This record gives sequence, structure tokens and C-alpha cells, in this order.
Amino acid sequence: MTTTRRCPDCGVGMEEMKMRTTDGFKLQLVTDEPKSGIFGGLGAKEKIKPTVVVCPECGLIRQYADR
Ligand SMILES: [Zn+2]
Repeated sequence: MTTTRRCPDCGVGMEEMKMRTTDGFKLQLVTDEPKSGIFGGLGAKEKIKPTVVVCPECGLIRQYADR
């Protein structure tokens, strides 16, 4: 993923950052779609690691679910 996200307010490129909780756990998005593969149908949910970008101008934080 080399696409540069742009701030909707400032129009400048946003910097990708890692976002973690204070406990050090990584954020994770869980969809309602069943996970594909051999574990599909066993109740496993697809998990997505969100991409976090921050605007260096205004500080806006956006999260994208890259699938
Ligand atoms: Zn901005």
C-alpha cells in the first residue's frame, strides 16, 4: 500500500502511524464476515488491522480498514 492519504481539510499528505492502547495491544477490526480458508465456518471472524494516518497540519486522525 503506497497510496498517500490526504487530509480532507488541509489537502496535505498524511503520515501513517501505529496506534496502540496503553496496554500495548494492537487495535483490530473484526468483521461479521466468516474467515475464508480451512477455518471458515467454524465461527472465526475475519480480523483486519486498521491503518492509522495522522495529518501533520491539523492533527486529524483517520483509520482505514485495508482489506
Ligand atoms: Zn489536516
